[in-house]
Amino acid sequence: MLSASQIRNRVLQGLATGHLWRLADDRAKAREGISGQCHVCDLPIRRGQVYDLSDTKSPVRIHLECYLFWLHVSGAYQPEPITCTLCRRLIPPHAEKVTVEGEPYHGRCWARRQEEAASEGQSAAQPGSQRSLRRDVMFP
Ligand SMILES: [Zn+2]
Ligand SMILES: [Zn+2]
Repeated sequence: MLSASQIRNRVLQGLATGHLWRLADDRAKAREGISGQCHVCDLPIRRGQVYDLSDTKSPVRIHLECYLFWLHVSGAYQPEPITCTLCRRLIPPHAEKVTVEGEPYHGRCWARRQEEAASEGQSAAQPGSQRSLRRDVMFP
């Protein structure tokens, strides 16, 4: 089995030479009971580990690992949608995004949260801390 970077290079080479093409979406199916040779890395594929593109004229058999790299390099993998920790709405890829302790926020939402934290810090010093509790309910 090739390493990840070797498989990646194989895919890039294959796309450059025309041996591979850009996959539009995930079409491969597992094929039971056959062995084969991988279209990406040219190494043999053991019986029970063969994946096969179902929409090609002649069968194209691939390792799952090689297929995943091929899909990825083709851009057929959409990145996971990212939602804001504060407002729970989607953060589009081009939007300003802040990641704090592994949690994503809209740039504006994070700024708002910091403002709120600052004002809560002030009100906590005063006796009336119920006000900030009500604010939390308004902005879950
Ligand atoms: Zn392979
Ligand atoms: Zn947000």
